Amino acid sequence: RTLVIGLTGGIGSGKSTVAEGFARLGVPVIDADLIAREVVEPGQPGLAAVARAFGAEIIGADGRLDRKRLRERVFAEPAERRRLEALLHPLIRAEMRRRIAACAAPYCLLVVPLLLEGGQSDLVQRILVVDVPEALQVERVRQRDGDTTERVRAILSAQLPRDERLARADDIIVNDRELTDLEADIRRLHRYYLELAANRRD
Ligand code: ATP
Repeated sequence: RTLVIGLTGGIGSGKSTVAEGFARLGVPVIDADLIAREVVEPGQPGLAAVARAFGAEIIGADGRLDRKRLRERVFAEPAERRRLEALLHPLIRAEMRRRIAACAAPYCLLVVPLLLEGGQSDLVQRILVVDVPEALQVERVRQRDGDTTERVRAILSAQLPRDERLARADDIIVNDRELTDLEADIRRLHRYYLELAANRRD
């Protein structure tokens, strides 16, 4: 059985950057955001289920999920949003479990932005948090997405506060320096996780 490390962190903290670093070392990476998209690809049962629940008009002329239309349907409608989540969540979770089960490496990384907010932390044995000071987080997201400080702050305030996230972490990777420093931290954690995986008793 593979050791599963859950990778999480606030918006723009560097989850993708860190995951890429582990992937370069040969660590299998399972990405929750990618899976969430894949379960509603054309031909997947998830797309048919969403169409049954929200109407065929949420499928565009190209046969793909019309995300904009779906967002409009659930935006400002908490009950509708919950209905959508209740439908997709089990599909995403089942796919995550399948990929974990298929993983032959000593350990794998499960990247879940809302790992601590949502109900997926039982899938992982350890939690790795990517941490950055908020000012840097805002600056990087502004640079990357061309967002305003206010918009980024609004997203931040909807996420778990930094101190609560850190309190739940088993391991913390601080991403406030150069990428080469980050890579050194990733290599160190990699060695540590290989050791943990080799000495596992559970
Ligand atoms: P999201 O939550 O939005 O998915 P994320 O946590 O995956 O974001 P990344 O996309 O990895 O974060 O990083 C956010 C931005 O900051 C990217 O543009 C990335 O290139 C940049 N970045 C990440 N780490 C560093 C670093 N150490 N130095 C400079 N820039 C960085």
